[in-house]
Amino acid sequence: MRQLLSILTPMYNEAAGLGEYFQALEAALAPLDIDYEIVCVDDGSRDDTLSLLKQHAERNPRIKIVALSRNFGKEAAMTAALDYASGDVALPMDADLQDPPELIAAMLAKWREGYQVVYAKRSSRKTDGLIKRKTARLFYKVFNRLSDIKIPEDVGDFRLLDRGVIEAIKQLPEKDRFMKGLFCWPGLKHTVIEFERQKRAQGTSKYNYWNLWNFALSGITSFSTFPIRAGIYLGLTVATFSFLFGLWVIFKTVITGVDVPGYASLLVAVLFMGGIQLFFLGLLGEYIGRIYKEVKNRPIYLVEDEIGFHADKAKTP
Ligand code: UDP
Ligand code: MG
Repeated sequence: MRQLLSILTPMYNEAAGLGEYFQALEAALAPLDIDYEIVCVDDGSRDDTLSLLKQHAERNPRIKIVALSRNFGKEAAMTAALDYASGDVALPMDADLQDPPELIAAMLAKWREGYQVVYAKRSSRKTDGLIKRKTARLFYKVFNRLSDIKIPEDVGDFRLLDRGVIEAIKQLPEKDRFMKGLFCWPGLKHTVIEFERQKRAQGTSKYNYWNLWNFALSGITSFSTFPIRAGIYLGLTVATFSFLFGLWVIFKTVITGVDVPGYASLLVAVLFMGGIQLFFLGLLGEYIGRIYKEVKNRPIYLVEDEIGFHADKAKTP
């Protein structure tokens, strides 16, 4: 039996580039010695994405659609795609042709050599602005310093995943899904190929700096508890110093008597400590919010419609 490759594509308002995407993708997939399915998750698009998808699915039955009931975000849409994929191997790809389909053949070749994960790493970030480049660098540095699970730098969701890896990821029940981290959690045998990432073919990125900041925060707090533990060390350090300072003040009062100055330094110390306390309270809130989200145990996404899946394959989350 021929093996099956599942292409997984979350789509949010991607109507403008859809035709171009399928054309490039199908051209790259046709010559490969593998069957394929393209699992498209419509993440509650407000444009014509879904109706266009239906037209394409009629033209090519290998195009399958999972329509979510509203916009759940890319990470949830990707989770849906993983749940619906039935391939021996899967490849998440963005709908904007920033992940070049021409790379699929090389990635499959690596998979056939026995690698279970093949990362596609951006060889440069030329298409990104200076701020994006610097902040991305900083994020990977901080994340990998704090988390037990290391994520490779400049690798997006574009990576080939063997069925074994998919099954492992599906066992991770968390509601807050930082896919970059979850994809790395199973470990297993992996390799890297490099590519040059192009600019978006159509439309604009769905992420601004505020989204990216929240994304980074969610990633770090999902994979590390160091930020709240840092409070212990900071608190201990400050307490030790203030104890020593107190001893010194007593000593000084005994020797030279009482003096009044110190208003400025007192205010600085109080405000500084207040700031640090608020910071760690906020951090605590972040983790408690996360616990709250897990405890509620709501489904990660809700499917409104599914097209192209066999009745026995169709799953509900
Ligand atoms: N996307 C999605 N849901 C969202 C936001 C984005 O499914 O809420 C999809 C989007 O349609 C695209 C992919 O995620 O296929 C990557 O989005 P984008 O190109 O905007 O991100 P960037 O390339 O800037 O990281
Ligand atoms: Mg993009």
